[in-house]
Amino acid sequence: MITFLSGGTGTPKLIQGFRTILSDESLSVIVNTADDIWLSGIYISPDVDTILYLFSGLLDENKFWGIKNDTFNTLKMLHLLGFPTWFNLGDQDLAVNLFRTLMIQKGRSQEDIVKALSNLLNIESTIIPCTNNHIESRIITEKKGDIHFQEFWVKYKAKVNIKQVYIKNLESAEIPEAVRSTIEKSELIIIGPSNPVTSIGPIIRVREIAELLRKHKDKTIAISPLIGNKPVSGPTEMLMKAEGLESTPMGIAKIYKDYCSCLIIDKTDSDMSNQIQNKTGLEVFSEEILFKDTQDASRLACSILNRRELYDKYV
Ligand code: GDP
Repeated sequence: MITFLSGGTGTPKLIQGFRTILSDESLSVIVNTADDIWLSGIYISPDVDTILYLFSGLLDENKFWGIKNDTFNTLKMLHLLGFPTWFNLGDQDLAVNLFRTLMIQKGRSQEDIVKALSNLLNIESTIIPCTNNHIESRIITEKKGDIHFQEFWVKYKAKVNIKQVYIKNLESAEIPEAVRSTIEKSELIIIGPSNPVTSIGPIIRVREIAELLRKHKDKTIAISPLIGNKPVSGPTEMLMKAEGLESTPMGIAKIYKDYCSCLIIDKTDSDMSNQIQNKTGLEVFSEEILFKDTQDASRLACSILNRRELYDKYV
């Protein structure tokens, strides 16, 4: 079993690469839920859905959210009726979230809901939300006050000054039992190239996940979401800086050093390898980590499996 810790863009691209060489049954994903939000009475879980859509073949791979060829008629009508519609949800996507909301109202846990959706969408991988509790990435801004991450990123398009980032309800968050068993039985755990503050941060900062990863750091590796000091997409750089972290592969290494034994950085950053290794104790490899297409991600997947001597077993 190979397990990923994932947000909604960078790691799903890497997972696409793994899927070209491995069977879905051998993959599991522990997904960030701190992006989740209630909007117009619907509970939306964007990163979980990106992973569900990826494995079911429904994902719009141009945007890395939503369902391909979806229509937006319900959203248009909601707009006409005066509901806030800054968060884009297609009609089919909305149906999935309606299903989720009805299940929540029946008292079902996030874990059960994801399991049910996985079964209904014929997914053979194991997809697990990082916690059953509602956690939220929140951004304290200068002008807009304390806002949800989705408001910061989607509504205000990151055009606000950040004073602080925090994750609401993190202290009381408990893990689904499947998170523990999956981490324990995995031969390889991959902290994917996702945003370390609002995608991976909420996962590895759930107390029991942090403990499990510390215990299993030898079989855990991380892939940098930064190339040089820039993310490939999204607000990672500004969020890291707001947290007082340096937006560099060294900054990534410092965040992950207690949870993994190896970091893969980009080839163009190879001159930093020794310094990162000396400072953090992590084994550092440089590879091409920019996924322009699925083939790029497949190449990295093969190389990771080879390095870990898992290629022959899985492929
Ligand atoms: P979100 O839920 O959309 O914020 O999803 P993620 O956190 O998974 O995605 C954003 C992060 O993915 C950013 O830090 C990007 O730099 C990283 N990312 C996106 N594409 C790539 C890529 O091709 N390679 C690498 N290494 N990182 C990527």
